Amino acid sequence: MAAMMLLPIEVSDAGWLSDVFKGSSKQAKSPRQGKPSTHVTSRKHVASRKPATSARSAASPKRRTVKLAALGPVALPSAAFKPVVPLCDPSKFRIVLDVGHTAESEGAISARNVSEFVFNLRLAKRIEEKLKAEGFTETRLLVTEGKARHSLVKRVAAANNLPADLFLSIHHDSVPNKFLEDWEFEGKKSHFSDRFSGYSVFVSRSNPDFKTSFAFAELIAKEMKAQGLDYARQYSQPIMGRYQRELLNKETGVYRYDELIVLRKTRMAAVLLEAGSIINRDEELKMSSPERRDIISSGVTAAVKAFCEPRWAVLGPL
Ligand SMILES: [Zn+2]
Repeated sequence: MAAMMLLPIEVSDAGWLSDVFKGSSKQAKSPRQGKPSTHVTSRKHVASRKPATSARSAASPKRRTVKLAALGPVALPSAAFKPVVPLCDPSKFRIVLDVGHTAESEGAISARNVSEFVFNLRLAKRIEEKLKAEGFTETRLLVTEGKARHSLVKRVAAANNLPADLFLSIHHDSVPNKFLEDWEFEGKKSHFSDRFSGYSVFVSRSNPDFKTSFAFAELIAKEMKAQGLDYARQYSQPIMGRYQRELLNKETGVYRYDELIVLRKTRMAAVLLEAGSIINRDEELKMSSPERRDIISSGVTAAVKAFCEPRWAVLGPL
């Protein structure tokens, strides 16, 4: 089984995470983007959490240029120096819920032989419902078709062209092939691994707005924890091999994964949520339940509200 780990991920039998991980910059290059902006810039002088940085909604006030030199040494009211804070109006805030994988390229296969895409779609739809019920009426469910690699480009293009204010990719977790064990489910030879469980949240330092991405990831992870869920610890461990990741917050379970195409090529804050393991037989049953979908959807919705609403409530329309 160890040899399987050396194969290109596209040919691994589980297809685990195959369309979110890796990919050269050439393949993922946005046709309209000559040079990717890959650095965390210092232009974020307003606040580390700025949900509507890329928003072009009507709620965002126009910037006014003040030529300070022309005003001379006269003391200006402090308001003149106040940075312009883009507002977050829930009714205009565009969050894209990206349903991980496609019907054709289904991602992981659960212990009971249900595709990850089915889990992702069900959960993302529930999150969409909750967000819209909370006033985030511009929430978009992004369901992509086609082969894994090409679907990544389509996801990124859809989010960038909208443009979205926030991008959240929904996935369910599995394990590298070397951890798989055999069992029989409903008369069919199947695979499982009960060794790991839990959610995990990924961000990429290559996202042009890493600070905001990380802030949103922290909010989601904290809400997951507040709902009584535990995060998947294994990604920080050497046994994960090439899947080992840097743990950015050991309290909540936010990991760094720079190479994820949907996180580094999107031009807005972007986060990937592995909601839970479907290769773990016990957790798969939980992830299949409407109750768990409600818990996770409530957590995500609370995170989006925490991200957006304080600014709106405190600042109001200018
Ligand atoms: Zn996935």
